[in-house]
Amino acid sequence: METSFQVIVVGGGFAGVAAVKELGRKGVKVLLIDQHNYHQFQPLLYQVATAQIGVSEVTRTFRGLFQRYRSATVLTAKVASVDVAAHTVTTDQGDTFHADILVLAAGAEANYFNTPGAQENAYPLYSVTDAVRLGNAMVHTLDAAQRDSGGGGVHIVVVGGGPTGVETAGAIAENFKYVIPKYFSPELAANSSVHLVDMVPSVLTPFSDKSKAYATKRLQEAGVVLKMGSGVTDVRQDGVTFADGTSLPAQIIVWAGGLKAGAVVAASGLEQGRGGRIDVNPDLTAPGAPGVYVLGDAANMTDAHGVKLPQLGSCAQQAGKWAARNIHADLTGGTRAPFAYVDKGYMAMIGRGAAVAELGPKRIQMQGPLAFLAWLGVHVVLLSGNRQRISALVSWADDYLTHSRSHVVLGNPD
Ligand SMILES: Cc1cc2nc3c(=O)[nH]c(=O)nc-3n(C[C@H](O)[C@H](O)[C@H](O)COP(=O)(O)OP(=O)(O)OC[C@H]3O[C@@H](n4cnc5c(N)ncnc54)[C@H](O)[C@@H]3O)c2cc1C
Repeated sequence: METSFQVIVVGGGFAGVAAVKELGRKGVKVLLIDQHNYHQFQPLLYQVATAQIGVSEVTRTFRGLFQRYRSATVLTAKVASVDVAAHTVTTDQGDTFHADILVLAAGAEANYFNTPGAQENAYPLYSVTDAVRLGNAMVHTLDAAQRDSGGGGVHIVVVGGGPTGVETAGAIAENFKYVIPKYFSPELAANSSVHLVDMVPSVLTPFSDKSKAYATKRLQEAGVVLKMGSGVTDVRQDGVTFADGTSLPAQIIVWAGGLKAGAVVAASGLEQGRGGRIDVNPDLTAPGAPGVYVLGDAANMTDAHGVKLPQLGSCAQQAGKWAARNIHADLTGGTRAPFAYVDKGYMAMIGRGAAVAELGPKRIQMQGPLAFLAWLGVHVVLLSGNRQRISALVSWADDYLTHSRSHVVLGNPD
């Protein structure tokens, strides 16, 4: 395999894929390196963990994604280090590749904020592997609880009341309400619980008060017990302790408590800002490292007015496409332009017929069934691949009408 390229992109998430597609369209010789041979759609990982949809609906192979771009090459390998001065990338197998321009789009990983026991005992939810691990843990714990004639139920604590925590807790509560009685037993479901906990006073911090109130009400109606306003200080195999001295027993603790830049960026030597991310220039280049771009969850990006952008799929995707155009300008003697983000707003799913959405820069608010439909529409469009879209739609319809889970096989985690 060749070892020199015009561009190397590290990481094939939303940002990396968008960058490679745009570079491929322009005929730029680009190498994408990812530790997996597939792109994963993070926003639906909680649905994989709760067996609403299957792994194949949230993944698509890079070779399939880029088959029409003759100038794009894919390498499945874990990047061990990058040299931002020499423009080289070295894999954990010891292979080194060089490019005129490097793009670091290796995403984020769970930030446990040094909470004792969290890394060892909690389940993060940032990859397909994480989702399969969590799903298997839930199935095995339910199996064990059913075997136990004690019937103590399964107790789950979700740490972090942001969109990921809300969606995960809502989906688990729905399983306890509709699925576990059917596939296990009504008694097991009745004795089980899901808590959503956070140190901040309310769920969905970035959303409006109206959306927060709606989400709180719907979560509670679905059976989620909320404990807000006290941080988790200790995570054990059998539960969590809070700063206010109280504790909750749990067999499973899900960590949706925060993100930090992934190890590749942390080890790059680039100066790190909030969340370990790189405070990139307005044109998405890394300060002090000519020919290096940092994108998506690995970067602190700003819009055209200097406002910090959140860690969202739409920000990463738009940044990938924008960076590719700037790279093309670099390679052809053009001028780079500052990233002009088109704000599409936020949304979060709570459960059956219940979601919140705040759309566009004006934050047009929707709650309830309309937001639920908007959420479905946006996620179908964002999913990569028509097969994946159709299959997800069939799974959602089946779930909505029958609560069937029998077609979803989780497989075993890595
Ligand atoms: C559970 C969950 C739910 C979410 N829900 C939403 C939502 O509803 N809407 C929304 O807009 N956003 C949502 N997000 C956020 C969104 O998914 C991220 O902002 C987006 O994925 C960031 O894209 P990225 O390309 O920067 O990184 P990622 O998508 O994380 O991609 C990073 C890639 O880098 C690869 N990589 C990492 N390290 C290495 C290495 N050492 N070597 C090789 N490859 C490596 C990974 O395999 C991965 O493919 C959610 C995120 C999560 C985790």
